Amino acid sequence: MSKPQTAQPGLAPDLGDMTSDEFRRFGHELIDWVADYFENIEQLPVLAQIEPGELKAQLPASPPEQGESMDLIIADLDKLIVPALTHWSHPAFHAYFATSTSGPGILGELLTAAFDNKAMLWRTSPASTELEEVALDWLRQMMGLDAGMSGIIYDTASVSSMHAIAAAREGVEQRIREDGMSGRSDLPLLRVYESEQAHSSIEKAVLTLGLGQRGLRKIPTDSEFRMDPKALAAAIDEDKRNGYIPFCIVATVGTTSTSSIDPVREIVPISEEHTMWLHVDAAYAGSAAVVPEFRHILDGCERADSIVVNPHKWLFTPFDLSVLYCRHMDLLRRAFSLVPEYLRTPEQEKVRSGSDYGIQLGRRFRALKLWMVIRYFGHEGLAARIREHCRLARLFASWVEESPDWELMAPAPLALVCFRACPRREEETEGQREQRLDTLNEAIMHGVNATGKALLSHTKLNDRLTLRLSIGNIRTTERHVRQVWELLNEQLRKSHTV
Ligand code: PLP
Repeated sequence: MSKPQTAQPGLAPDLGDMTSDEFRRFGHELIDWVADYFENIEQLPVLAQIEPGELKAQLPASPPEQGESMDLIIADLDKLIVPALTHWSHPAFHAYFATSTSGPGILGELLTAAFDNKAMLWRTSPASTELEEVALDWLRQMMGLDAGMSGIIYDTASVSSMHAIAAAREGVEQRIREDGMSGRSDLPLLRVYESEQAHSSIEKAVLTLGLGQRGLRKIPTDSEFRMDPKALAAAIDEDKRNGYIPFCIVATVGTTSTSSIDPVREIVPISEEHTMWLHVDAAYAGSAAVVPEFRHILDGCERADSIVVNPHKWLFTPFDLSVLYCRHMDLLRRAFSLVPEYLRTPEQEKVRSGSDYGIQLGRRFRALKLWMVIRYFGHEGLAARIREHCRLARLFASWVEESPDWELMAPAPLALVCFRACPRREEETEGQREQRLDTLNEAIMHGVNATGKALLSHTKLNDRLTLRLSIGNIRTTERHVRQVWELLNEQLRKSHTV
């Protein structure tokens, strides 16, 4: 077989793929590029310093008629793409939930792209199907979850939770798979319960499943932003008296605003009393359970029906990879399995096929990167990194507590600190003070972010603007946390007159 020839170096041959020589050359070049990117990332501003539309304006509106050289394409990475990136891999990225990719994870992604498997049936990718079961069982053991929980990978927590609620709905036995929900006078209102601090993905799941916003009830939280179990029980009782069907409770272990942990152990008896599905959103904090001394955050989850955890958040696995652990895979399968003739296989009764458990047919070989991450770092290595992030967060929180100009706004059980500047001023009312502090803290955050040296984000707690510092990047060290503390104090001095 003759090798396809490249007309000119860097250009595509007339037919067929890039030659293997060229693939090797550009592959090596790009791996070097990525290694340099990580080595020099601290010279780049964390937040993209461009205006909306700026990148689009620099790109041609129509596609090239002839292929372009890989050299030119790679040159445009530096010229056009990098300036338009917000660098989530920067060690001073502390916004939202700081997350991070890692060497083994990136190499896993590379291989996934090369294999390009669509793991819809066992036979279309035995490797993906079986490795997924093994890697998720390892993760389950590392998190201390019991063997009754079986895992499945989706892209994001939003999708994992949507599937969990769909399985819960299937368990209600109201013929929803067969008859749907619309145009039915026999179907009472179905309700899901979450705390006021739950992530918006739960509400989106409820919308997607056709339950409507009336199908979701938000339960108040206590002074530490945790769901109030008494209020939950009262809400369910009231809804039952009204003839509704309460069918699912979503507890959060590690809420988005503050990382607060709902009292799952106290919520379990309520779900059991009413035969409701208990789904636990541990998208962020679940990874912390791989650290033996933090396992208690999943206290009670041994009686939950499902739990979502995102290795792409805090387990050094590149986006995307979310895991749903579920105790009732049969219900998930009943909700989603639909096998047309062209997908029937002789072995289907003996094996698991991912497409039976969700909306997608084709599924990426995501387990590979997780398997590589777990093998490369090992349980102890993963735990050491998460433990260190929590230590850094405690250190930062201690500086906040010790300073008269700053205050904590919520407990910091893991690696997220909620805080604000609160310098005193004589003779002002409570209302004036709160107004002033909101304006001041917003100015401080924008000031820090504009330096490009760190990135913070905010939330509102009890209606007060609150700064959030999240530590989750594999490259973040004490030096970075000290630097952001200095930047904050510098901005406080500058903005003090606001
Ligand atoms: N749940 C919680 C608690 C989160 O913090 C987030 C995102 O930050 C999500 C769910 C949604 O995650 P994803 O982007 O994987 O859908």
